[in-house]
Amino acid sequence: MSRINGFVGRRDLLKLAGVGGVGLAATTAGSLLWCTEQAVAPNLAVAQTNPKPVSPAAQPNLEGLSPDEALNRLLDGNKRFVQQKRENPDQSLARLRQVARAQRPFTAMLSCSDSRVPSEIIFDQGFGDLFVVRVAGNVATTEGIGSLEFATAVLGAPLIMVLGHERCGAVTAAVKGEPLPGRMGTFVEDIKPAVTRVRGKAGDLVDNAVVANVQFQVETLKQTSTILTQLMQSGKLKIVGGRYDLDTGEVTLVA
Ligand SMILES: [Zn+2]
Repeated sequence: MSRINGFVGRRDLLKLAGVGGVGLAATTAGSLLWCTEQAVAPNLAVAQTNPKPVSPAAQPNLEGLSPDEALNRLLDGNKRFVQQKRENPDQSLARLRQVARAQRPFTAMLSCSDSRVPSEIIFDQGFGDLFVVRVAGNVATTEGIGSLEFATAVLGAPLIMVLGHERCGAVTAAVKGEPLPGRMGTFVEDIKPAVTRVRGKAGDLVDNAVVANVQFQVETLKQTSTILTQLMQSGKLKIVGGRYDLDTGEVTLVA
């Protein structure tokens, strides 16, 4: 086993061990995933011994980033985007090659599929930075929760952001409450409890519901995932909620 192999393996196992009493099932799944990564590691070793692809000075080491540091890094990127000062980090060929065999994203995100909310652009990030689950209405489905558990417990992301946005079509549909064809009603149903919370309150109902939906999905993540709860309790994970303004590009924390 090469040094890189050993390093990757130990790191993941330590992270899994750090989750605490998550249970054998999660640990076993993590080990299987780790083995998959290990199986391709010889190529990683070749890539990393080649001096051309990676410029260490240009690639910050994000290992061990705290949840708050990850949040600052994410919001700093959004600030650059809003101010039209994007640096387009981690988008080089060197970065592509650096993360080709192994990823360590610093943020996992549950965002809406809306074409106007592209995660890497609005947070000014690049390859290997964000692990993104996108679904209309940014609802926490079973598959989505599983993906976020993988991103945090196995890949080590210290932050989850649930991101809703202004004038969300899925939230608008939930506010209207009309029957929808096909399976479009499925994600709308997951938003309705949030709409109920804000109906009759002052202000714009859809905008209030967008914020309420973010808060509701954050609560769902915290209440339904033992893995995420234990990571939070051990200080290794923070779950926050944001609202994206379509007019200004700014993300504001709402949960
Ligand atoms: Zn949307």
